[in-house]
Amino acid sequence: MPSSWVSVPAVLLGMLFVPGSLAWAVSEAGPVVAHATVRGHDVPVYRIGELEAADTQQGMDGFAIRVAYALHAWTREHGVEAIGNLCRTPDGTRWGSVLLTVYAHAASPRTNACPAGMQAVGVDVHSHPQRQRYSVNSIDRLFLRDDLMYQAMVATRPDAFSADDYAQPGYVVGRIHLQFQEGRGRDRIVWDMGRPQPPWGGAGPGPVPKREGRPARSALSP
Ligand SMILES: [Zn+2]
Repeated sequence: MPSSWVSVPAVLLGMLFVPGSLAWAVSEAGPVVAHATVRGHDVPVYRIGELEAADTQQGMDGFAIRVAYALHAWTREHGVEAIGNLCRTPDGTRWGSVLLTVYAHAASPRTNACPAGMQAVGVDVHSHPQRQRYSVNSIDRLFLRDDLMYQAMVATRPDAFSADDYAQPGYVVGRIHLQFQEGRGRDRIVWDMGRPQPPWGGAGPGPVPKREGRPARSALSP
């Protein structure tokens, strides 16, 4: 591995916006629903989709699994991170999520965006690049450490939470697993992404593998 490949954690862009407060501008990359300013640069936030489903026996995990399949497929195609904030109707019968991206490998926009009529539950699901190294793009450069600003390739760990991911409870879908954490040492594997996708609105995704408590990182074999 060339010395210019340095392992860095992905970071979450910790910004909030109220959906509907900004007019959408459509670009080739999708509708822009918000803007962030990072190191003096404008970072557009793009909307890439929206999901809704009835609650199931698996509750939040069940819907997170559904969101994870969408994010996993989108990231496999585009290479960069995407994120979905988990939302619910006030009566708890339906879940929903607005899927967003800033087209970075190293950051996702953490927001309170929700489908109409739903409220954020304070937990989101984001994807990590599925390769162990990636080419740094112009948005990544805004988030990476200064000493990495001019590196062409950066190494990463698809199935590991980054330090910044622990800022609040959340799920991450890497290459192999969907995982959940609510603090360091309190993470668990929720789902094996190699399993068939559960049916939408059906009886639920079926039994979740009983692997709670297993250290997530032990599943990694770089
Ligand atoms: Zn992350």
